[in-house]
Amino acid sequence: MLVPRHGGIKIIAIVPDSLAETAGISRGDKLLEINGEAVLDHLNYQFLVSQRDFTEVMVEKPNGNLLRVELENGGDALGISLAQDKIKVCRQNCVFCFVHQMPQGFRKSLYLKDEDIRLSFLYGHFTTLSNSDNDELNRIIREGLSPIHVSVHATDPAARARVVGNTKHGDILSKIDHLIDGGIEIHTQVVIAPGFNDGEIWERTVTNLWERRACQTSGSGNGRGGILSLSCIPVGLTGHRQNLPLVQEIDSDYAAKWVNRWKKEARCFAKAWNGEPWLLLADEWFTRAGLTLPGRNFYSSDWTQIENGVGLIRRFQEHSRRFIKSVRAKDFAGLRLLLLTGSSFAPYLSQTIELLKQYVDSKIKVAAVPNRAFGTSVTVAGLLCGHDLLESAQKHKFFADGSTVDAVVIPSASVRAMPDSSGHAKPADIYQFLDDTTVSEMQSKLKLPVILSGDNLSQMLFNIADSTQ
Ligand code: SF4
Repeated sequence: MLVPRHGGIKIIAIVPDSLAETAGISRGDKLLEINGEAVLDHLNYQFLVSQRDFTEVMVEKPNGNLLRVELENGGDALGISLAQDKIKVCRQNCVFCFVHQMPQGFRKSLYLKDEDIRLSFLYGHFTTLSNSDNDELNRIIREGLSPIHVSVHATDPAARARVVGNTKHGDILSKIDHLIDGGIEIHTQVVIAPGFNDGEIWERTVTNLWERRACQTSGSGNGRGGILSLSCIPVGLTGHRQNLPLVQEIDSDYAAKWVNRWKKEARCFAKAWNGEPWLLLADEWFTRAGLTLPGRNFYSSDWTQIENGVGLIRRFQEHSRRFIKSVRAKDFAGLRLLLLTGSSFAPYLSQTIELLKQYVDSKIKVAAVPNRAFGTSVTVAGLLCGHDLLESAQKHKFFADGSTVDAVVIPSASVRAMPDSSGHAKPADIYQFLDDTTVSEMQSKLKLPVILSGDNLSQMLFNIADSTQ
């Protein structure tokens, strides 16, 4: 019998009457090997079982005995659930790493730096590929983990080493080439830190990545490998940068010059790429410069990299314009709300609400919340803490005539749903802010309903209706 090469992955559940159960595999066993290969993680399991009609499985029973069975699964799953994979931790020291700029006292998980190609493939997290040696790159290719998301930051090795704070990881192009040769498609990003990777370094980065662009035929890559997109994001600095390298803030002048130059370039790249945007500018360039967001065709048809802050505002505006003219928008009539958001989005939200009021008689006010926890240079809604939102709600909950709003709407991006160990907690109890306060606590201090915004006005209405049931 083969000797297993690693500790295995615990099986935490078995589907009743599944192939696995019928073959004598039980909850609590450890999955060691499939078809003679050690199983590395969930993705590797899915890949290995999909390879053959007959799958050979080796598990270790809790008493140490090994069980080896052959299952006729036809490439389908076996009916087992595996314990969660361990996340790989980042060993870099990027000059702008947000984790290094976090205030003290937040929950431990927020200080965890993940750097894991599995999260890159599954959830679009960006990775510097620093944890990925040749074996891992080959694994990405073999399992077809495409597309993945890579933080390039600079293709110039010396510049990249300075940005990621690690001299061993300056060269990114050889890893990118390895993946592209293996047919992998890649979304890339560069966080622009003035003096580190802008100017000629950035121009060379754009050229190097464009030379490796995926073949664009009909709005998406064709599976032959290549760069699918490159986003540029202005560096975000918090008020907690003690003992960190000096990085220049990107102010409105810098942002305006950037937009002026690269918006045009982005349109040229799109023209050369069959009309589909390839070079993407994050919304923050426009919000910092105080500029209007470009039109819909500046963003890709599937809103590529929207999770990375590219096109969020334009998508909100597009949706709102259509929604405001719809019959459902009338449900905003008579509502008296305070909408809280980050200071970068507040002007755009205000414009939309003014438009809404032209069609629907409602009393809605918008307030920009200063971020005292991270520093006022942090203007995005997703990093607002409960204390700051509460303080702004207390301050702005009255209308000019002295009456109080009926409810306060907070950005959905500022809360996370925490696991409900009791199984019957109210939604307001499980929604937690970064500073561990809950929506429930905010409600009781305000003595007003607190409602999540959703991604658009239609979702906001739905959440309002839901809260009154
Ligand atoms: S790659 Fe850089 S920014 Fe990302 S977690 Fe690591 S140090 Fe932080």
